[in-house]
Amino acid sequence: MTQTLPVLPAVAEHYCDQRGYPDGVAFMDGQYLPMSEAKISVLDWGFLHSDATYDTVHVWNGRFFRLDLHLDRFFRGMERLRMRIPYDRETIESILRNCVALSGHKSSYVEMICTRGSSPTFSRDPRQAENRFIAFAVPFGSVANKEQLERGLHVAISETVRIPPKSIDPSIKNYHWLDLVKGLFDAYDMGAETALILDANGHIAEGPGFNVFVVKDGSLRTPAFGVLPGITRRTVFDLCSEIGLSATAADISRTEIKAADEVFITSTAGGIMPVTRIDDAPIASGHVGFITRQLMDLYWQKHDEPAWSSVVDYPCL
Ligand SMILES: *Cc1c(COP(=O)(O)O)cnc(C)c1O
Repeated sequence: MTQTLPVLPAVAEHYCDQRGYPDGVAFMDGQYLPMSEAKISVLDWGFLHSDATYDTVHVWNGRFFRLDLHLDRFFRGMERLRMRIPYDRETIESILRNCVALSGHKSSYVEMICTRGSSPTFSRDPRQAENRFIAFAVPFGSVANKEQLERGLHVAISETVRIPPKSIDPSIKNYHWLDLVKGLFDAYDMGAETALILDANGHIAEGPGFNVFVVKDGSLRTPAFGVLPGITRRTVFDLCSEIGLSATAADISRTEIKAADEVFITSTAGGIMPVTRIDDAPIASGHVGFITRQLMDLYWQKHDEPAWSSVVDYPCL
């Protein structure tokens, strides 16, 4: 069942006059809304139980980057959580494009969400819930600011253990973030800017919304176990095979990450971002590494290539 999508008249009328919405545009309950008007019920199980999956993709210089991979992951997540929405993949893609076009932002952070919703009869049975789809496009924001991208991030390793895969399948992008948020506060307490937390075996897992890579003797490694398989992480593998670097997914111990030649983190919110300090010590010389910089440059170059990106049509700009 696929619905046609009405455009909220208020948005449609003012759209070309005011040339976009600085705070972004959302789509929910079949309508496009200015971001400040996009609100959900406190009874939604997405809010009450974190019963939701989502994905984020970015638009850079008016082009989506690897949108197909994000849609694949989002649909896989919904299927595994047994969620159903009345929109097919093409419709969702056009909703996302419309949110970006209406917002007017050429560089945008675009999120699609499916929550369990709630049951009209207040049943506690999740099968009775009407699942809810929400999308929005807001201005692009990065995990690392400009200065941090230049000099590299200062990261602390928290003792917090990431929620294990047997509890929550990490390949379903989710909002179970209390472990990651605890890690962040630990990192702030240690004077760092962001955190890495551990897997159940005490190896490095990931951070709040990003994966991590180490470079040692010219080869790259990223944790295999208990992490979200990021699209940016996948992109690093693709870039490595293009330029002939070896990259593998395998355990990384705390000792190994501190002894690495280079460390970087990866996320749709910021791309490939260098790390030059972990806990109290610099990584190697404490400067952004050569391979990290090479991959960062290549990553942003790919944003203009049709094989990796697709153009957004902004009819009023
Ligand atoms: C989204 C996310 C990442 C990064 O994934 P990308 O697809 O590269 O943005 C890493 N870890 C967690 C827990 C995430 O939610």
